[in-house]
Amino acid sequence: MPNKKSKVGYIPVRTCVVCKGRYHQSDLYRFAVIDSEIMFDLKRRIPSRGYYVCNKNECLEKLNKWLLKKNKK
Ligand SMILES: [Zn+2]
Repeated sequence: MPNKKSKVGYIPVRTCVVCKGRYHQSDLYRFAVIDSEIMFDLKRRIPSRGYYVCNKNECLEKLNKWLLKKNKK
C-alpha cells in the first residue's frame, strides 16, 4: 500500500495558467493578481490566491493577455 502521507520524494506539481502544462513547482513562477495587476510572489508570501506560470518566455509574454482575458469574465 503506498503511503499517501509520505513526503519522501514528493515534488508539488502545478499548472501553468498560460500553456496549461504541468511542471514542478520549482520550475514555475508564482504570482498573485492584486488590483488587476500581476505581482510576482518570489518569496511566496502574498496571502492572496496564487497562480503559476512556467519559465518559458512565450508564457511570460502571454501572461498579460491571460490577465486581460481573466478580467473580462
Ligand atoms: Zn507555460
